[in-house]
Amino acid sequence: MKIAVAKEVEMGERRVALIPDTVARLVKQGHEVLVEAGAGVGAEFSDSDYLAAGATVSDDRGWLWYEADLLTKVNPPQEWEVNLLREGTALISFLNPLGNPIVAQRLADRRITAFSLEMIPRTSRAQSMDALSSQAGIAGYKAVLIAAAALPKFFPMLTTAAGTIAPAKVFVMGAGVAGLQAIATARRLGAVVEAFDIRPAVKEEVQSLGAKFVDVSLDEDTVAAGGYAKELSEAAKERSRQIVTQHVKSADVIITTAQVPGRKAPLLVTEEMVAQMKPGSVIVDLAADQGGNCACTEAGKDIVAHGVTVIGPINLPATLPVHASQMFAKNV
Ligand code: NAD
Repeated sequence: MKIAVAKEVEMGERRVALIPDTVARLVKQGHEVLVEAGAGVGAEFSDSDYLAAGATVSDDRGWLWYEADLLTKVNPPQEWEVNLLREGTALISFLNPLGNPIVAQRLADRRITAFSLEMIPRTSRAQSMDALSSQAGIAGYKAVLIAAAALPKFFPMLTTAAGTIAPAKVFVMGAGVAGLQAIATARRLGAVVEAFDIRPAVKEEVQSLGAKFVDVSLDEDTVAAGGYAKELSEAAKERSRQIVTQHVKSADVIITTAQVPGRKAPLLVTEEMVAQMKPGSVIVDLAADQGGNCACTEAGKDIVAHGVTVIGPINLPATLPVHASQMFAKNV
């Protein structure tokens, strides 16, 4: 089979779908691998690394996309890119088919068998293909590093000749894959961590990472099919806001990660809650490009609201492109 690796075209994207190690394995299995020139450069993999792994490298995009029996890439293809694929071939990438039905339809029109990495079941059996998880873990890790860099305080407790420094308090809202990695990272940096989620099942995972679970005990069903969170009723949203307000107020850092598939991200931190935080506190909102978990978030920007730095990063996995690509390639 001819397997091609596309160069990503999105601004700021540094990941690549297959790394030279994976290419070498595919070549060994008898496949021909075609790599678009410069595809790996953002992730520190040069064209010569791919050549050494046995790939053919070409800067002729039209030729490469047309030749491929299977094209691999990270981001969903643009509409114009779909036209470059030969009819009846296959594609593996993130596709966002529900958010981007035009491209999904265009792929169907061209009879492309498209595997959307987001639609792989989140089960133990499919874990090795779960690119949502591999990339979310990176986002959770990086969110904490960004927060630590922006906070005008230490994270760890320090006992020094110049006095004792209290540890930073970190509150993680949404303890899915990204949230759990954020908890683990903040703990490694020495912070005192609290976390909350509407799925009661995560309580044990939060505690096993050494964080305190803030229990909101809602009396409605919060878990949908596939283990994802459901959108809460207005009454439950209000109740959980009341319970978390105290924890928001006392936090030095808040990392928000809450998402509900197919919906705008739930609003967890209102502007009023931000105004009650200590000046210099930091919020990193990982749901920024889904509308944000914080009312003050502006996607792609760092702003200061009521003395609080609110950071709305987009595509954090692309800022750790070596390991993000290594994990993504393994998933593919
Ligand atoms: P996600 O990115 O969809 O959401 C992040 C977290 O936000 C979730 O934990 C969710 O419960 C939480 N959330 C949603 N609304 C909220 C609200 N109003 N307030 C507070 N928190 C809220 O989640 P994810 O990390 O992609 O995980 C989704 C599901 O997939 C989970 O059940 C997870 O355990 C499961 N999963 C399973 C496997 C596996 O078995 N291999 C791997 C990864 C994830």
